[in-house]
Amino acid sequence: MEDCIFCKIANKEINSEILFECDEFFLIKDIKPVAKLHYLAIPKQHYARFEDAKDGLESLRKIFETIPTLKQKLGLDDGYRIIINQGKNARQAVQHVHVHILGGQDLGEKIVAETQN
Ligand code: 5GP
Ligand code: ZN
Repeated sequence: MEDCIFCKIANKEINSEILFECDEFFLIKDIKPVAKLHYLAIPKQHYARFEDAKDGLESLRKIFETIPTLKQKLGLDDGYRIIINQGKNARQAVQHVHVHILGGQDLGEKIVAETQN
């Protein structure tokens, strides 16, 4: 999709080091890491929300299936956390579904959300 940063990376219009790639998705480092290791697994198909995936969620299935096989290469043997932001309350910034994979350190509290009074 035009003007989508992740589509541009997928189409190689923007240069980014791709650590893994298959028919369904590719994996890069997040440009602004929030943990020692912070990767993004990004479906090649453009869709902003799960419900928008016209051809189904095969790409997400493939991502979840593949991550364990990349654990050693990515330095995630001691565990990792997966986050997917969807929509406004999650402050999804890039409107192209992507899976955050955090690791390389103790990630602290299991559930992170700022409380509001
Ligand atoms: P969201 O808030 O949408 O879940 O996360 C978007 C993520 O994409 C952010 O963590 C941000 O740092 C990352 N990001 C945005 N633009 C780029 C880029 O051009 N390259 C890479 N590698 N990461 C990006
Ligand atoms: Zn896109």
